[in-house]
Amino acid sequence: MPRIPRPADRITLPRRAHWSDGAACSGQEPEIFFPVGTGGVPAQLETEYAKGFCGVCPVRPQCLSHALTRREDYGVWGGLDEYERAELLRAARRTAEQQRRQAKAKAKREAEADAVA
Ligand code: SF4
Repeated sequence: MPRIPRPADRITLPRRAHWSDGAACSGQEPEIFFPVGTGGVPAQLETEYAKGFCGVCPVRPQCLSHALTRREDYGVWGGLDEYERAELLRAARRTAEQQRRQAKAKAKREAEADAVA
């Protein structure tokens, strides 16, 4: 008769490494990184406190990349608050749009030059 496996019998597979392994905020309360409110001195102080962890965090670039990719709307990620990340994304969109317009103008000039030749 087969024995029903008990929880202690379960095999624990090794966990794959994750970018957040070794994060400076590991073990901290997540609420620290989600200050209450959008303005005022208390929220600013909470935000700066959270950013203090990010300032010494070895995985800060990965954290910021994760937040930007996932469009995390709230909290401190990768050392930036939601407003700073939104500005970063706006700047990236402006740059991409500018590059698209330049590429389009260049293609148009080349097409005109080919038509003349
Ligand atoms: S950058 Fe900041 S929020 Fe991100 S893992 Fe590091 S300490 Fe945590």
